[in-house]
Amino acid sequence: MKADAGRVIADLEELAALSSDERGAQRVAWTPTWQKARAWFAEKLAREVGVGVTRDGAGNLWASLPGTGAGSLVVGSHLDCVPCGGWLDGCLGVVAGIEVLRRVKARGAPPVTVHLVDWADEEGARFGRSLAGSAAAAGTLDSARELSHLKDRSGVALPDAMREHGVPIEGMADAATYFRARDVRAYLELHIEQGPVLEAMKKPCAVVLGTMGVERHLLSFTGQTAHSGAAPMHLRHDAFLAAAEFALACRAVAVERSGKAPRSRVVATCGVVKVEPNFVTAVPGAAEISVDLRALDAKVLAGMLAAAQRASKAAAKRHKVSVAWRPLMHIAPRPFDQTLMGFAARGIKEITGATAPQIPSGPLHDASEMAGIVPTAMVFAQSSPGISHTRLEDTPRPALDKSIRAFLLAVDHTLEHLGHEALPSSGRRC
Ligand SMILES: [Zn+2]
Repeated sequence: MKADAGRVIADLEELAALSSDERGAQRVAWTPTWQKARAWFAEKLAREVGVGVTRDGAGNLWASLPGTGAGSLVVGSHLDCVPCGGWLDGCLGVVAGIEVLRRVKARGAPPVTVHLVDWADEEGARFGRSLAGSAAAAGTLDSARELSHLKDRSGVALPDAMREHGVPIEGMADAATYFRARDVRAYLELHIEQGPVLEAMKKPCAVVLGTMGVERHLLSFTGQTAHSGAAPMHLRHDAFLAAAEFALACRAVAVERSGKAPRSRVVATCGVVKVEPNFVTAVPGAAEISVDLRALDAKVLAGMLAAAQRASKAAAKRHKVSVAWRPLMHIAPRPFDQTLMGFAARGIKEITGATAPQIPSGPLHDASEMAGIVPTAMVFAQSSPGISHTRLEDTPRPALDKSIRAFLLAVDHTLEHLGHEALPSSGRRC
């Protein structure tokens, strides 16, 4: 069956019209606009595919077409977005998933069950914990410890907001049981790249190698506050200069380790700097600086962290200050499944006529959680301009069209593969 992106793009436009204002998309999780988008999703599935949606313990929405063989394929992404977000982040994968179900349904019963999932609260935009729904399904979320104390800016507690949407936080662990019962053999996600790499390569879409691991830390440099006029340069203990040197060293750490090939790209970012006492006539006595290191290879990431630690000590010594590290977050790299990546590459080649580029993802996705428990792959659609989390986020129509069609073919190839695997003679999994 020919893969057609027209209905997907029309649906995306319909959803954008329904859930955006002049500042952008407003489908923030656990808000009425998100609820409206999810109601639209459920209604579309009922009308056009003839399936209902069920909700697991974490508020993820599932729609399913039962297959003839054992096991299942899951496709999905997230309808929620950041405030004033774009029209494609997350919903592209969910809306393409509706087309997956329409295509599968039109062919009769699939060889294995096909599930479409809309993960709840991928962005964590209102309460700060991203990937909540997929992490709950993967069994990596401790909701009592990680979620129960969270409040939004107006003081509303997350458990109250969830309860208002019919999802009691006490039941979140059930999402993992629900997932395990689906006997999932593969997870596929279509998402926009959200960065400038494919645009620079002039490629419409790519196979994703995996999501990068993250080392996020907060450093405190402590020196001595002094009068900017009275303190001679060689007698200062300037905490900010140490932090500034550290930031430049982190840049060098990433630049030195980034190869030309997209797969060896690594990044380092110092996004927060706080200086004390923070006035123009004071030598800063204290400086707090964050560092966020990302790499696809765990060894490379560990090497970057060690190099950054050495650089912080050297900078502290040079400026006669002390430095202390506080870890904020560690996420292991999540390489994707080679077999499924092969199907994604095949789909892209069939649509574009060219070998599919393979790039890592710097941002985390629901697929990062899935990759920890089931074979997983992603297709990225070019972002142009290469930005996201803004209403300016976009994918040129020809690239959007190709990415959707390539993803649909990747699903076809995966289903065919799982169908063979599901035959009684073979117990092998992909
Ligand atoms: Zn997203």
